[in-house]
Amino acid sequence: MGPGWPSQSLVLPLLGFLLGIAEASHPCDVIRGSYSDWIGSAINKDVVIVGGGISGLSAMKKLLEEQVTDVVILEAQDYLGGRVKTYREGSILIEEGAEWIHGGRRNPLYKLADSLGMLTQPLEDSEYDWRLKTSGGDEASEAGYSVAEEVFNQCGESSALQGYYDTAHGQCFLDRFESLYDDGSTSPEEKNAWLHYLNMWALRDGGVNDWMEQSARDVDQFIAYGGEDKLNQWSQGYDALTNYLKSSIPEEKIKLNTPVCKIFWESDPNGKALIVTATNEAYLTDYVLVTASVGHLKERHLQLFDPSLPARYQNDLNKIDLGVADKIQIGWESPWWEKTDPKPLDLHIIFKNFDLPAEESWLYGIMEVLGVHQQPNVLQAFVVGDSAREMENLSTDDVQRHFLKFLSRVTGQTVPEPSFFRRSQWGKNVWVRGSYSSYITVSGDQAGLKSREPLAEAIINSYGNRVIHWAGEHTHLSRYGTVDGALSSGRRAALEILEEIESDH
Ligand SMILES: Cc1cc2nc3c(=O)[nH]c(=O)nc-3n(C[C@H](O)[C@H](O)[C@H](O)COP(=O)(O)OP(=O)(O)OC[C@H]3O[C@@H](n4cnc5c(N)ncnc54)[C@H](O)[C@@H]3O)c2cc1C
Repeated sequence: MGPGWPSQSLVLPLLGFLLGIAEASHPCDVIRGSYSDWIGSAINKDVVIVGGGISGLSAMKKLLEEQVTDVVILEAQDYLGGRVKTYREGSILIEEGAEWIHGGRRNPLYKLADSLGMLTQPLEDSEYDWRLKTSGGDEASEAGYSVAEEVFNQCGESSALQGYYDTAHGQCFLDRFESLYDDGSTSPEEKNAWLHYLNMWALRDGGVNDWMEQSARDVDQFIAYGGEDKLNQWSQGYDALTNYLKSSIPEEKIKLNTPVCKIFWESDPNGKALIVTATNEAYLTDYVLVTASVGHLKERHLQLFDPSLPARYQNDLNKIDLGVADKIQIGWESPWWEKTDPKPLDLHIIFKNFDLPAEESWLYGIMEVLGVHQQPNVLQAFVVGDSAREMENLSTDDVQRHFLKFLSRVTGQTVPEPSFFRRSQWGKNVWVRGSYSSYITVSGDQAGLKSREPLAEAIINSYGNRVIHWAGEHTHLSRYGTVDGALSSGRRAALEILEEIESDH
């Protein structure tokens, strides 16, 4: 029997495990048993961190710096970084998750990447082969683009957002578009095409499922660092950040492929938390730091926490959501869009006719196909909103086939067979269940969630211990949806735990 297996009351969990294998729909459904079934085999830890994404790694780094060393990270997946996921194949390097460092010097990641000699600046707009096309392959109007751009910028301004605090961000887009678009000069189809383009642009930027879902107040709480027009990147991949954080953590303090399935937070007579993993390990700890995404928590909190989380926390989870936005990345031996002296492509697509066959309708969720930075032969498109979920349900071969046909139609060019193709499926990932940005919904705002503060508040058990702490992008008040927000949330949670430890002594 391997280490970590329960030495007492083994029969019940083991039976549950064996029965569960046959019917499990979630990797944690195999785990059965109560506190008393698991406590005998529990390993003691001062702190257990659930999740080895950027927030979890950052919390661990800070705790170690403060000499809190009896800590372990339990990560469900087989890699660290979570939504930071760099993929390499031959000379190709692409980001399945986070890609850009939003903002300039005020963003700590900008400074970090710069100090490590790993900052790369984006190309100027003029260095792209910029095309504005209809989905049928015709030239699209620059006037329509200017309106969409103007509305997009206006609805990012606090002065505009304040007027929409009690409603959806999308209402701002709709109103401003209506007042700025000149109906007189174009057809209803053309107007609708630009509205759709703007809609997809807003979803891609915000990462929300529907622009009528996110509260405008929530959008206004995001604080930009300045310099956002420049999308800086990690020159050797975003996972350089993961590796940087990991380098200060001893290997034995990280356990991959170790999903946390149960957190008993009221059962221990000393007021500790008992954590059970899908790998049949148990940990008894003073503090558990949960860094799982809002998508995972919304889906699993009833199974994960025993007893259930306090009603106020459960209610708040109902007031926030995580959108799905996916990426398609496609590469060739050489650029086909321009044979001589090719620039990276920046192809914007507007749908005047929604005439695609039903199975290809997910393509309506794409508004731009853009050359990947430092990868002259690779193009990337975001697929957003409902289209992302539709795309995730198709086979990779179908997605590739549909996309190639579409690309050929829009550009009017012959698109050769690619040598590389990938698409993400963040919505299907049971450990994330979404992509970049958590958002407070309009109904959530109306029901009282005006900021993310309550989601970051520790849970106190009946022994008076602040036993469950929270980190992750969704707990950051003003930089949610970003890697720097996740990084800073981990540090904040580590300092909170440190304060608890100090007050206990
Ligand atoms: C497609 C995409 C593009 C993005 N683009 C950008 C960008 O350009 N710039 C930017 O700043 N940000 C971007 N983001 C957002 C950024 O990646 C996230 O905000 C950030 O990485 C979140 O970190 P986190 O630690 O909060 O959560 P996560 O990265 O989700 O980490 C949580 C970890 O917990 C693990 N976990 C979950 N449940 C359990 C469990 N029960 N037991 C054990 N482990 C568990 C998960 O496997 C995961 O590793 C993007 C994200 C996506 C998906």
